[in-house]
Amino acid sequence: MQQDCIFCKIASKEIPTKIIYEDEHVMAFPDIKPAAPVHVLVVPKRHIANLCETCSDDITLLGHIMTVIPKIAAQLGVADDGFRTVVNTKDNGGQTVHHIHWHVLGGRFMTWPPG
Ligand code: AMP
Ligand code: ZN
Repeated sequence: MQQDCIFCKIASKEIPTKIIYEDEHVMAFPDIKPAAPVHVLVVPKRHIANLCETCSDDITLLGHIMTVIPKIAAQLGVADDGFRTVVNTKDNGGQTVHHIHWHVLGGRFMTWPPG
C-alpha cells in the first residue's frame, strides 16, 4: 500500500467503488470519467507504479491480469464485438495515476491511432 495512492485506496476498499471484478490479486472498477460506454480499470492490488517498474517476479501477475481482462469484457457484454485494452506509461504515455492499470474500453468503435 502506497500512501496517497488513489488506486491502492480503492483496491484496499478504503475508498468505496462499484466492484466489477475482484480476486486475491486484482480489482476492476469503473473509470470515474468514462471515455466509452464501457470503461473499466483493472489494477493489481499490490502497488506497482507503471510497466517500467515490473520485473520477472511479476510475470504470473501480469499474465493473470491479461487472462482476467477478457472475462471482465465478457461480463460487461463487450467481448463479442471487441474492446480496447490500454496501459498508459509515464508522462508521454498519458499516465495520470501512478498505480499500474489496464483501461478496458468498449461499447463503441475505437479509432486508431490514438490521440
Ligand atoms: P491514466 O491517465 O492512464 O493514468 O488513467 C487514469 C484513469 O483513472 C483516468 O481515466 C481517470 O478518469 C481515472 N480515475 C482517476 N481517479 C479515479 C477514481 N477515483 N475512480 C475511478 N477512476 C479514476
Ligand atoms: Zn497504488
